[in-house]
Amino acid sequence: MEKEILIPLDLAQKCVKCGLCKSVCPSYHGEEGSFARGRLALAEMVVKGELPLTSEVAKQWNECAMCRRCEWVCPNDVQYKEIFIKVRNLQKQNLGEDIVSKAGLKALEFMQSKAGRTALKLAGKISKVLPSEVKVPLPTGSVKFMPKPDGKPFSIRGKTFKAKNEKAKLLFFTGCMIDVFYTKTGESVIKLMNSLGYTVIVPEDIKCCGAPHLYHGNVEAFEKLKDHNLKEMERYDFDAIVVACPTCGGALSEDYSKDWEVLDFAQIINREGDKLKLVGKGEKVSFHVPCHSYTAMRVNPSEFYGAIEKVDGVDLKKASKAQSCCGFAGLWSIKNPKLSQKVQKEKIEDFKETEAEYVLTTCPGCVLQLRDGAKKFKANFEVKHLADFLAERLE
Ligand code: SF4
Ligand code: SF4
Repeated sequence: MEKEILIPLDLAQKCVKCGLCKSVCPSYHGEEGSFARGRLALAEMVVKGELPLTSEVAKQWNECAMCRRCEWVCPNDVQYKEIFIKVRNLQKQNLGEDIVSKAGLKALEFMQSKAGRTALKLAGKISKVLPSEVKVPLPTGSVKFMPKPDGKPFSIRGKTFKAKNEKAKLLFFTGCMIDVFYTKTGESVIKLMNSLGYTVIVPEDIKCCGAPHLYHGNVEAFEKLKDHNLKEMERYDFDAIVVACPTCGGALSEDYSKDWEVLDFAQIINREGDKLKLVGKGEKVSFHVPCHSYTAMRVNPSEFYGAIEKVDGVDLKKASKAQSCCGFAGLWSIKNPKLSQKVQKEKIEDFKETEAEYVLTTCPGCVLQLRDGAKKFKANFEVKHLADFLAERLE
């Protein structure tokens, strides 16, 4: 039996009902319970015993993408994430976990187990004949273009990539999606960091960062994953952590209770990239700012634009909704296919207006979602992780 975690009413009551969070919420669809203010009010009523915790209440909570844009815009510093982890934990204890969350979170744990890695390495070999994105029917009735496992998943694990004239050591926390689907992006990060004089250490036995579990209120599973990862990371000597997935980066900086520096690779490029020779050909590019990069990791989006502008000759076309949610949010897009697709469509149409040839981003989940959206809504641009775009132009 999991221990009960109390919802701190004093935190929820900091909400002054201004409604500012409505304007930035990707899940808002006209009902009070479909954005932060209403969801917090429901939580308060449930905790006070004024409202039973029914599946109708849980539906409003399940529609939250945990993008944390409400927290980012809130003038009264309402700590939505802290409250909502506890809300979802309460929901899990009273109503159980829905089948998609249960299966999805278990799949993330399996992917990084010994058996999972063996199976995925085999799948990577077999799927070489498939196109890069495969149309997959999802249990909630929608269809998504999903990446196939990389041809050599986990191949950068357990290795140290030494820089010439090493100035510092970075531990690269790759994250599940880079490990399994986008290994080349991991190689790009290593190439860029090595060029700047950073030795890159990729630990051997890292599991999921646990953020998906935490955001679903599965605190026990998160704690287990965190303890495992901390034990593994303690084996290495490093100066800072580098990530190419802002959800991992957010968990490592906010939830691992360690006094360490966690940097997005793009921040390092922005700060030190003048030393690199990045040569473009006048490509028109646009950028999607992943929600967790500024809400959880607290990276200033100007750092991403700064990194892109290190490429000589690149033509940056900012989209008007560059900072809005892409509609992925992990399992949320599977559990809420209609909402997810509505947000995704708006995003793709906005990028079409920029006439960009490339839409870049710094989150592998956003790459998946934007590629799926570009196919569904017939966009001409190519979606790339910023690390790949930069590494391909490095001379
Ligand atoms: S922005 Fe903050 S204070 Fe205003 S309604 Fe939303 S949560 Fe409450
Ligand atoms: S976390 Fe995102 S989806 Fe959830 S209430 Fe806040 S803004 Fe809306």
